[in-house]
Amino acid sequence: LSRYKVAMVGSGAWACAAARMIAQNTSQDDPEDEFDDNVSMWVHQGGELVDVINATHENPAYFPGISLGPNVVATGSLAEAVADADLLVFCAPHQYVRGICKQLMGKVKPGAAAISLTKGMRVTPEGPELISQIVRRTLGIDCSVLMGGNIAEDVGREQLSEAVIGYSNLDNAQRFKKLFQRPYFRVTLLPDPIGAELCGTLKNIVALGVGMVDGLDLGPNSKAAVIRQGLLEMRDFCQALYPSVRDDTFLECCGVGDLVATCIGGRNRRVAEAWTRSAVEAAAAEGNGPASGRSWAELEAELLKGQKLQGVLTSNEVQQILRTRGWEAHYPLFTTINRIINGHLPPHLVVDYIEGAKAEI
Ligand code: 13P
Repeated sequence: LSRYKVAMVGSGAWACAAARMIAQNTSQDDPEDEFDDNVSMWVHQGGELVDVINATHENPAYFPGISLGPNVVATGSLAEAVADADLLVFCAPHQYVRGICKQLMGKVKPGAAAISLTKGMRVTPEGPELISQIVRRTLGIDCSVLMGGNIAEDVGREQLSEAVIGYSNLDNAQRFKKLFQRPYFRVTLLPDPIGAELCGTLKNIVALGVGMVDGLDLGPNSKAAVIRQGLLEMRDFCQALYPSVRDDTFLECCGVGDLVATCIGGRNRRVAEAWTRSAVEAAAAEGNGPASGRSWAELEAELLKGQKLQGVLTSNEVQQILRTRGWEAHYPLFTTINRIINGHLPPHLVVDYIEGAKAEI
């Protein structure tokens, strides 16, 4: 009997929470015995962390205190992780996926299918490319996406969470649903893969804006205003780039659901709050001169301890598209946030984004 073998490409917090759900499904709740029990997990640091995961079934670096299950088998070798895998789950920070796919060229089993949990995009002179599109183009395999308001630690603690699988191939999506669906993790299928993936990507920019609102000690009304404008710009940007993106996608858990979860409890919000406090303090100390608080890189390293911040890169990537296409005035919040994070405008303009987008910089 040939059973589907699963490989997890990534070992960060979300990769661990996802591997844990998959491992529960492949071992305990697999009535048709469709899946191989073992889930291989690629750990890019390799070495000692691989040994620790395999000995303790925990990833102390990114997901401490939560067991992944004995059937998650870590390896430092990417080729070994995907060898013979029928189902590939991509869950690495978005800036690394292209490099990973290049290493995988020619090493993936023919007929394999992929799903991407990564939120982000790449921008080239030819235009934007989504992570699922990179996987599809470089590896020549189908790639669905799984998106939703999924703070990794909450999923690991088995608190109710929702996700959609955005798909173009229904058979593959149904198989992936069996792989992820848990009593605490509700998965639905959505035939709008581009809309789902872009929502997951763009909400990271809005979360930076919400972190700024917190860093300025403004209250819920201001926060709601930034979230509302953010959702509107998310929708307009998605549909301007891809007219097929559906309106109702924004009301799904990959749209407003993920936006709200990330704006409440995400890393982008947290780091942006700290960055804003530091910028405001620096500006006060320096009179009205240019604010030079702590850098994004410094705060990312200090607060996220090896995890990666996606919003700053994504904001710069999206802004490149807005600038090249002459769209900046139509996206005043995205544009103002981008100018603030790059030090061209003071943080308080996040709630005055119409002025922020008009400012000469
Ligand atoms: P952060 O990267 O901001 O933590 O976002 C988490 C997330 O995408 C939850 O769905």
